[in-house]
Amino acid sequence: MTFVDSHCHIDGPEFDADRDEVIERAHAAGVTTMLNVGTGDPRSGTFERAIELAEKHERIYAAIGVHPHDAKLWDDQAEQRLVDLVKQSRRVIAWGEIGLDYHYDHSPREAQREVFKQQVRLAREANLPVVIHSREADDDTIALLRAELSGHERAGVMHCFGGSLVMAQSALELGLYISFAGNLTFKKAGDLRDVARQLPLDRLLIETDCPYLSPVPFRGKRNEPARVVETARYLAELHKKELEEVGRITSESFEKLFGVR
Ligand SMILES: [Zn+2]
Ligand SMILES: [Zn+2]
Repeated sequence: MTFVDSHCHIDGPEFDADRDEVIERAHAAGVTTMLNVGTGDPRSGTFERAIELAEKHERIYAAIGVHPHDAKLWDDQAEQRLVDLVKQSRRVIAWGEIGLDYHYDHSPREAQREVFKQQVRLAREANLPVVIHSREADDDTIALLRAELSGHERAGVMHCFGGSLVMAQSALELGLYISFAGNLTFKKAGDLRDVARQLPLDRLLIETDCPYLSPVPFRGKRNEPARVVETARYLAELHKKELEEVGRITSESFEKLFGVR
């Protein structure tokens, strides 16, 4: 069986002690491919770290971008660094995560919107799909994407989806894929499972967003890419498919969206 973890953060300090074992466990579970997302203060070396990890492992790719939490740290230097790194490294296959987070509001909303917009434009110039983080900001996210992303062929993915069916359908219309994380397995996530059941399987991806959001039955523990299989298991049940088929279909979608084989 083959699975792809379409969104993980294994370059961070949470994995410094056992990163190699974590990657080995992923491979042992059939998780052949990972997209590692470099996020955090743009001056902290986080983008470089993500790229370094991707240079070292053939099947780990990098996405880089300024997270909405850090929108207040955006400046010309951050922009230039991102543009240069995207040009320099073939291992960067996506721009993100970018978007809006009105749940935490770590950066002013006005700044979040402006930095999101600028990065969607930069991603288009670089011909890269975007990885979108949207939390409690569905309407603004879709409005901005309608204005900035329409007609983009390899548009991107709504990561760690937690929105409504209407939101999901608007994203699909824009050419985006929808990615589900461990929260799909949570006991109280009945509404989210209803949404997942109604979406076309060939437009869905799976992810861990590790170290966060460990799926059932590992909830509360540090998450890792091997556990993306648990989310796939729920998706298989919702779509009445074999686990193997969900692995295959979501892996093919990943390859198609990000242009990797
Ligand atoms: Zn996120
Ligand atoms: Zn993330």
